[in-house]
Amino acid sequence: MPLPIVTFYHPGFAAPIGDHIMPIRKFALVAQALRDDASVKLTQPAPVTEADILRVHHEAYLRAIQTGEPRDLAESQKFPWSPQLYPSVCLTSGGLLAAARQALVDGVSAALVSGFHHAEAARGQGFCTFNGLVIAIDKLINEGAIRNASVLDCDLHYGNGTASLAGTRPYLRAISVYGNDYLDNRAYRNIVPRMHEDGANHKSIALPGGCDGREMLAILEQALGLVLEAGKPNLLLYQAGADPYFEDPFSPLNLNHEDLYERDRRVFKFAKEHQIPVAWVLAGGYTEDVQKVVKVHLNTFAAARETFA
Ligand SMILES: [Zn+2]
Repeated sequence: MPLPIVTFYHPGFAAPIGDHIMPIRKFALVAQALRDDASVKLTQPAPVTEADILRVHHEAYLRAIQTGEPRDLAESQKFPWSPQLYPSVCLTSGGLLAAARQALVDGVSAALVSGFHHAEAARGQGFCTFNGLVIAIDKLINEGAIRNASVLDCDLHYGNGTASLAGTRPYLRAISVYGNDYLDNRAYRNIVPRMHEDGANHKSIALPGGCDGREMLAILEQALGLVLEAGKPNLLLYQAGADPYFEDPFSPLNLNHEDLYERDRRVFKFAKEHQIPVAWVLAGGYTEDVQKVVKVHLNTFAAARETFA
C-alpha cells in the first residue's frame, strides 16, 4: 500500500469575495471529494508569517492587505478587500509552503490553493494577492532546505508575477506554458507559438489558439527540457491550471479532460524519473459548471496516484 498523498487544505483558505468569477468554492468541493479517499491525507497547514511575506512583497503592500488602506492597493488583485483577506492569504501561502516541504520528504504533495502567479512584489493582479509559489521557495531557500527550485506553470494565463520575481532570484527558474497572454488582450485568441526569454530566470512557451492535446504535449516536452536546462532543481512546484480546458470562458484551446490528465501524468512521470520532489497547486478554472473544473483537479490526483503508486 503506497503512502497517501499528503494534501494541505484549510476551510480558512477562502475569504469572502462576494459574487465573483473566481469560483472560490471549488477548493472546498475538491476537498469534499477527497475526504473519503484513502489515497489522500488531508492536513491543515499553519499560516506563513509577516517575515515570510516580506521576503517577496513590499512592506507598503503587506500593510495595505492587512489594513485595507490605501484601498486601491488593497484591492489591486481585483476583488473586494475584507478584514478576513489577510488571514486567508497567510493560510493559502502556508498551504503551498507545507506542500513544498512535504514533497521534500515524500517526493510528492499537493495544496488545494492557487499559486497566485500574477502577484508581483509591489501589488496584486488577476485575483492573486501574494505570490505563494515564491513565498514558499524563498522560505525554503532561507532555511537551507533547498538550494534552488523550478516553477512549471501550466495555468492558461501567462505567469507574469512569477516571471518578474524570478528576475532577481538566481536560484529560481520559472517556466510558463500558457494559452492566454494575460497582459495583452489583443493576443487573446490568436497567440502564435513561440518560446521566449521573459527576463532573467524565466522562459515561456505559448500554446497556439485551437491547440489540441497532441500539440500541447509536444510543447510540454520542450518545457520539461527547460526545467533541466540549468541542472536538476531540488524542488518542482507545478501549477496544474484547470483553465486551459476548452469550455473555460478564457480558453482559446481545444483541450479536454483526457488531454489535461495526460499533461499531469507527463509532469509527474518526469518528476519521478528525475527524482525531483514535486508539489502541485490547482490554479485557475472558470468554466461555468464548476463540477467540470473540479473534475480537472481530481484528475490531477488520479494522475499523481497512478504515477507514484
Ligand atoms: Zn489562469
